Amino acid sequence: MTLCQARVGRRLRRTAWAAVACAVVGLAAAQGPTPAAPEATLAAADAALARARQADVQGDTTAALDAARRALDGYQGACAARSDCDWRPLWETRLLLARHDLRRGLNSAALEHAQAAAELARKAGDTAGQALALAVGADLSGLQGDGAEEQRLLAQALRMVRLDGGAELRARIALYDTKILRRRGDLGGARRSAEAGLALARQVGDRDLVAGHLVNLSDVLVADGRPREALQAAEQGLALTRTLGNGRTERTLIHNAALARVGLGQVPQALQVLDSLLAAYRAAGASADEAIALREFAEAFADVGQLPVALSLYHRERELAARMMAANRDAALAELRQRYDHEAQQRRLDQLTGESRLMSAQIDNRAAMQKVWAAGAVVLLMAVVLLGLMLRRVRDLNRRLEHSQAFLRALSHRDPLTGLNNRRGLHDAAAARGLDAHFEGALLLVDIDHFKRINDGHGHAAGDVVLVEVARRLAEVVRGDDVLVRWGGEEFLIFLPGVDAEHAETLAERVLQAVGDTPVVLPAARPGSVPVALRVTASVGYGCFPLPPARLALTLERAINLADMALYTAKNRGRNCAMGIQQAEAANADETRCWA
Ligand code: GH3
Ligand code: MG
Ligand code: MG
Repeated sequence: MTLCQARVGRRLRRTAWAAVACAVVGLAAAQGPTPAAPEATLAAADAALARARQADVQGDTTAALDAARRALDGYQGACAARSDCDWRPLWETRLLLARHDLRRGLNSAALEHAQAAAELARKAGDTAGQALALAVGADLSGLQGDGAEEQRLLAQALRMVRLDGGAELRARIALYDTKILRRRGDLGGARRSAEAGLALARQVGDRDLVAGHLVNLSDVLVADGRPREALQAAEQGLALTRTLGNGRTERTLIHNAALARVGLGQVPQALQVLDSLLAAYRAAGASADEAIALREFAEAFADVGQLPVALSLYHRERELAARMMAANRDAALAELRQRYDHEAQQRRLDQLTGESRLMSAQIDNRAAMQKVWAAGAVVLLMAVVLLGLMLRRVRDLNRRLEHSQAFLRALSHRDPLTGLNNRRGLHDAAAARGLDAHFEGALLLVDIDHFKRINDGHGHAAGDVVLVEVARRLAEVVRGDDVLVRWGGEEFLIFLPGVDAEHAETLAERVLQAVGDTPVVLPAARPGSVPVALRVTASVGYGCFPLPPARLALTLERAINLADMALYTAKNRGRNCAMGIQQAEAANADETRCWA
């Protein structure tokens, strides 16, 4: 049964492919030539396809596969970058590859090509092209043992046929229908399908198609145990193919005729034909066809009792099948390795692309960082310069401020008329020595006598001249450590730190002499008038603190008050004299009583 199926399958497949090739040529002719492609690859692919077609008609699987693979590479390479490529040459190439991969025994590769061809026709919206590719796919799926896929694809192909409705397409699809029915064991159905297809082929006047259906019919008849009718159908086909020059169909018909002759008992003739057939298959590289022939003839010889011949053929078939399986395995391994290499290359490429992107990003980052650093450095530099300028300005301002403050301080401490320190000068000097609360040292309060009279008699300006001159004379009397201030009006105060009472008294005497011994010369009131020499005297009140015997701690203010009291006494005693406080008795500072 299996042998029978295989036998029917092989011969039907051959015929179907013949029809496919014709259909492709017809389609191409009807729709015009392939658009001229500027690329040399496209022209080379067209040339390769032409060689594949020729090898196909001659039944040379090796040459057909070689040329069709070149054509496939060419079309895929040239059309990858174009949108105006004609789909039909590629479709035809795919189907040629499917057919010859099958003859080589590469079933799964064949099925992939058929599916790709169906997809090409579907995208192009071509019903006939799609139906044919689907029918091829159904046949290949059946051969692979996938009955469900076989039925699904065949049903799709028949739907397309109903859509198209043309007799030629129906005749072509009938080739696959017959084959599939035969494989299912429905010999009656297969025979009816072949006869209907034959009638349609004759109707459309396609002699290749007629020959194809005669191949199928002869095959079904052999399987059905009708060798005479089978021989008759095969010889009809042979008469036709000899005029067509289709070596492949002719070889299949010879094959079927020889099988029929085995059935008719014409063993020597059949054996003779078988030898040349097997040689032809081997020469063409169609190892699958060779194996099928060995199986079919072994079966046929066994059926007619030629057991030694049958056994020998079986052995040869087994050897060939083993070689084919190894070749298939090697091809699958090679394909796997190629796919792995490709994937590994792709992974490496992806990795390199990733690394390159990473490096670009790093370079960009670095450049951005450099810019940021440069900008930061510029900003920092500007900030430093600005800060320097600001600091210098602040320093200048501070310096000026200090000068101004020093000037103001000097002004605030200085008497503008005499240039001496004023009261604040004395307080600062005492405070600087920590003598505010507990005054120590001698104090001399000097008051010009009857100064009002000078003002009244000689004018205020003359009074100023006297004030300035008295100040100058006092300044000559004091030492570097002593503090001389204009205490107010015509009063001066001398602070002598760290001196005893005796020294204070001596100084008081010298003050009286310095002021009173030499008259003060007033400048001439008018040009030409005589300068006035004015006798000026002063009274002095002084004390040396802390006062004995109690040596009570006195504030500066209180000490000045006591000196003022002594001055008051000097004024009362007739002026131009000095009165000093020698002692003080008191329980506390507020109740001090002094003796001059
Ligand atoms: P006594 O001997 O008692 O000290 O009498 P006196 O006139 O010196 O004292 P009095 O207090 O009566 O007068 C002081 C005068 O000094 C009054 C005031 O007009 C005058 N005077 C105060 N300051 C200045 C000044 O800076 N310049 C001038 N020219 N006169 C001044
Ligand atoms: Mg006075
Ligand atoms: Mg006075």
